[in-house]
Amino acid sequence: MDLACPECGRTYADRWRCECGEPLTFADQPLPSVDSPEKAPLDPRDGLWAFEEFLPVGAKSEDRVTLGEGYTPLVEAPDWDVTFKLEYVFPTGSFKDRGATTTLTRAKEVGADRVVEDSSGNAGAAIATYAARADLPAEIYVPAGVKESKVKAIRRAGAAVTRVEGTRQDVTDACIDAVKDGDAWYASHAWNPAFFAGTATFAYEVAHQRDWSVPDAVVTPLGHGTLFLGAYYGFRALRDAGWTDRMPKLLGAQAAGYAPIAAELHGESAVEGHNDIADGIQIQEPVQRHHILDAIEETDGDAIALSERTVATELERLHAAGFYTESTCAVAPAALRAYRDRGVIEPTDDVVVPLTGSGLKG
Ligand SMILES: [Zn+2]
Repeated sequence: MDLACPECGRTYADRWRCECGEPLTFADQPLPSVDSPEKAPLDPRDGLWAFEEFLPVGAKSEDRVTLGEGYTPLVEAPDWDVTFKLEYVFPTGSFKDRGATTTLTRAKEVGADRVVEDSSGNAGAAIATYAARADLPAEIYVPAGVKESKVKAIRRAGAAVTRVEGTRQDVTDACIDAVKDGDAWYASHAWNPAFFAGTATFAYEVAHQRDWSVPDAVVTPLGHGTLFLGAYYGFRALRDAGWTDRMPKLLGAQAAGYAPIAAELHGESAVEGHNDIADGIQIQEPVQRHHILDAIEETDGDAIALSERTVATELERLHAAGFYTESTCAVAPAALRAYRDRGVIEPTDDVVVPLTGSGLKG
């Protein structure tokens, strides 16, 4: 039984969510056999699969669905007085490839014949691309009104694009209906624990690239929490393995008007407004809400909402400094400023900020 429900304790060989409705996790977090990274044969030429001993999928290297992803650059950003991790340096131009490589590897391992996902953005492109690499048919559900330019990457990889009328939830429901009909496997960036096992490699890389020192804080965009929670699971596994000795503060950046976690922590009045520029994180009901709030509590973390204007200004700063990113990812460096103003981040704190998606996608 690979999967377990943290809420009710049920276990499953494979299932897209628990019978109680909650998202599932892997029953066990694999940890390396050695208690210090110096004894581990880590080779960055293996990309993120260098951390195979932390991964619950892909035990046999020949079964991995990989495009050589991982070990994205960690670079100094003096204008921000932080280190940026360039998560847009990936085969499909976003960090979602971390989760796509492990999710499609899992799909092959459990014998999936066909995968489905609901996303018109980076997750859809990543799943379609890695499905092509796995030679598995993929169908990606998107809102009816989404621009054709946004689904181009999905179509190019040979995936079917299904447009669904109605709300974003209607899109998800149509996708889940296909899963319930029994002939499709849900390669979901919001639900699938294999996706989060992949995004956890962000933390392993950060630690390795910093000679195993953990930053004081990590600031990430926060929608469904795919990177936020991945970072949490990864830093926790490193600590549990004895490779590091502490956790960073995990600080989330949400879009004003779409900030349910920040609203829970600071009240509705703190998240009012709108932010359409950060369209990649416009999530009103994150599936992993409980886990995100737990991660914030356990790391003395936080979540705040950023206005459209603040993010637009930050995006211009990034581009002018040579970081050609998409708009959504500017919420994180914008949040960095806000957290400093509030004293959540001290002037002497050592902070890592991922830049999550490429501007080249348009
Ligand atoms: Zn359950």
